[in-house]
Amino acid sequence: MGDGVMDGKGSSIDKPGAAVYLHVPFCASKCYYCDFASYEGQNRLMEPYTNAILSEIASAHAAKGATSVYMGGGTPSMLPADKIAKIMSAVKERFAPAPSAEITIEANPDSTSRADLERYLQIGFNRLSIGVQSFEDSMLEKLGRAHDSKKATAAFEAARKAGFKNVSIDLIYGIPGQSVGDYARDLEAAVLLGPEHISAYQLTVEEETPLWDMVEDGRVVLPDDETMLTMFETTISKLRSAGYGHYEVSNFAKPGMECRHNLAYWLGEEFIGLGSGAHSFVGSSRYANPDDIEDYIYAIDTAGEAGVEILADEKDKVLDFLLMRLRLVDKKLFFKELNDRFFTPATRIKYVGEEGLRFSEGFKSVYSKALEDIAEKKLAIIDDDGFSLTHNGMLFLDDVLLDFEKI
Ligand code: SF4
Repeated sequence: MGDGVMDGKGSSIDKPGAAVYLHVPFCASKCYYCDFASYEGQNRLMEPYTNAILSEIASAHAAKGATSVYMGGGTPSMLPADKIAKIMSAVKERFAPAPSAEITIEANPDSTSRADLERYLQIGFNRLSIGVQSFEDSMLEKLGRAHDSKKATAAFEAARKAGFKNVSIDLIYGIPGQSVGDYARDLEAAVLLGPEHISAYQLTVEEETPLWDMVEDGRVVLPDDETMLTMFETTISKLRSAGYGHYEVSNFAKPGMECRHNLAYWLGEEFIGLGSGAHSFVGSSRYANPDDIEDYIYAIDTAGEAGVEILADEKDKVLDFLLMRLRLVDKKLFFKELNDRFFTPATRIKYVGEEGLRFSEGFKSVYSKALEDIAEKKLAIIDDDGFSLTHNGMLFLDDVLLDFEKI
C-alpha cells in the first residue's frame, strides 16, 4: 500500500509520532501468574515468526517519525540478536523513528548477556526494561520465574557496563506469603541499583493460570486488601523519597525519564502493534492480531495482514479510555476532554432514542451516578470541571470502572 491511502486497519496512520509496539512471544518457561500471549518450547518458530513480522512491518501503512518503538513480550532477549537486528532494521526503514525516539527492549535476567546488551545498543535501542520482579529467591520461586536474584542484579550491572543510560526495573508486589517488610527490601534493593525508572505492579490472579488454581485450591494465600494498600503506599513513599516521581499507578521515574511509549497508551494516543497478540489503536478503532504464534504466521502468509477489528460501541470506548487515562497520577481528567473525544454530534447521531438523548448531554450528566458513587466511596475527587482518583481509587481501579459500566 502506498503512503496516504487507507490501510487494512481501516484508517490512515498519517499522523507523525506513532508509537510502535513489536511483540516477541517466546519465553524460557511460563511464569505461574502469566496470561500474556507468550509461549515456552516454541523456539522452532523463531525463524518463521521473524519472517512474518518482517512482512507485517513491510506492509504496515505508517507515517515516518515514530516517537517510540517498544519491543516487548514474551521475552525479546530470547530471540537471537541477529533476528532482532533484522526486525529493527525493517522498523527503521518503515517507521523512521525520530532521532529523539525512545527505543526500548525488554529483557529477562535469565537470557541477558553483556554481549547481547552491547549488541542491542548498536542496533539502536536506547532503553532497557529488565523483568526483575523480586530480589528474593523465595518470591521468584513462588512466581515461577526462570531467574534468581543474583541474575537479576547481574543483568542490571551488565546493562550499565554495556552502556545503557536508561534502564527500567519491573517489580511485583502482593506475592503469596510476602510481607510488607519483604517487599520494602525489594524496593530498597531496586533503589540501591539506581535505575532511571521503576515499575511496581500488584500481582493479579488471572483465570486459567497455575496461580489461579493455587489460590482456588488454597495452596497459596494472597496478602489481604489492607496489606496490598500498605504495599502500594510503601512503594509511593519509598520511591518518592528516593527521587522517583509517581506518574502512573504502577510507574515511577527520575525526572524526565517517564516511559514515553506507555504514555501514548495511557493518554489514548494512536499506536501500531506488530506481531502475534499485538493490538493497534488507529483512528478510533482497535485491532488485535491472533495470540497464537502459528495462527499469526498463517494470517500473514495467506492474507498479508493479521489484525481483526475489535468491535466496540461508544460506551465500551469510553470505558477503554477511562481504564488507561485514569492510571495517570496528578493528571486530572477534564470533562471537556471526555466530551471532545466521545460526546460529539457524530456520537449522538449513532444513538437514537433514549441513548441518543443521553449522549447529547455530555459525560458529566450521563455518568452522574458513577461519579457520585466513586466520590462517596472516596475513590475519586471530583469538582466542577473534572476528576482524579485517590490512592484507593488507583489501587481499586476495577471497582471504579464497574461503576462506570452501570450507566
Ligand atoms: S517472562 Fe513474562 S511473558 Fe514470559 S511467562 Fe513470564 S511473565 Fe509471561
